[in-house]
Amino acid sequence: MPISFVGRRFRPDEFDAYLGSISFSDFQPEFVTLHHTGAPTLASRPDGLTDQHLRNLLAYYQDELGWNGAPHLFIDDRTDGIIVFQRLDKRGVHAVSFNRNSWGVEMLGEYDSEEFNTGRGDLVRDNAVRAIALLNKRINATPESLKFHRDDPQTNKTCPGMRVQKADMVARIASGMNQSPPPDMVSNATPWKVFLSTGLEIRLVHMVGGRPTCRIKELLTLIRPGGSYALNTSKTKVTWNTSTGNVKVINVAQIDEKGSPWGFLADIAAAARYKVQVNGKVITLTKI
Ligand SMILES: [Zn+2]
Repeated sequence: MPISFVGRRFRPDEFDAYLGSISFSDFQPEFVTLHHTGAPTLASRPDGLTDQHLRNLLAYYQDELGWNGAPHLFIDDRTDGIIVFQRLDKRGVHAVSFNRNSWGVEMLGEYDSEEFNTGRGDLVRDNAVRAIALLNKRINATPESLKFHRDDPQTNKTCPGMRVQKADMVARIASGMNQSPPPDMVSNATPWKVFLSTGLEIRLVHMVGGRPTCRIKELLTLIRPGGSYALNTSKTKVTWNTSTGNVKVINVAQIDEKGSPWGFLADIAAAARYKVQVNGKVITLTKI
């Protein structure tokens, strides 16, 4: 029986909706088991997991290991960093003692040695917390129900890495379960105020589909000056060649009357490696 591969990326709000569409019959998950990938490391995947990486993982589990199941989720540091790898309503394969009644969630990274509470590891952690909070809500599991792979008596792995602490994750998941969805995903007539960590306010913010958007070039020029910009002919994507020689592609949310492309704040911030922090109706962008 082949692995029921899905291979779709979700933002947290999209993942919440996806979870709501699933019903369970033969597989009845009761908790989440948390893992890290170990290999690949976070450093070896500078842009997260691509579709090709996911297909390679599928081939590895299915053809090399001969498994008929896999971890359910992979998590990376992108804004749409919740990846459904295999069907959530089917039993997975990820921890001998916990396969029968848990979902397996794999965080991209090697957290015996890579940073988990700063930089990109911090973004992976936040995506994992959001995903697990939503999974728990879906099945009425408590934050304390979380297991680490290393809790399995049948493994001697340190997975999900010694830098990942159970009490810290449980506390974050508990607060995640009490939170409303992330504000840039929520419909709201009142615009959000957006500031740089220097205190400078970004004044041109429009809501599109309930999410804050900014002029892509204008915001990037402010937070990561230099480089060049190109809008594709269908006006759906901006390619940004950064001053340090990187190439980033940002989705266009809308084109304004002057023909300038606007993008979602979360996407622009991610491309510039800025963290989006929210406090009430105030968003602060901080360099990672
Ligand atoms: Zn593991």
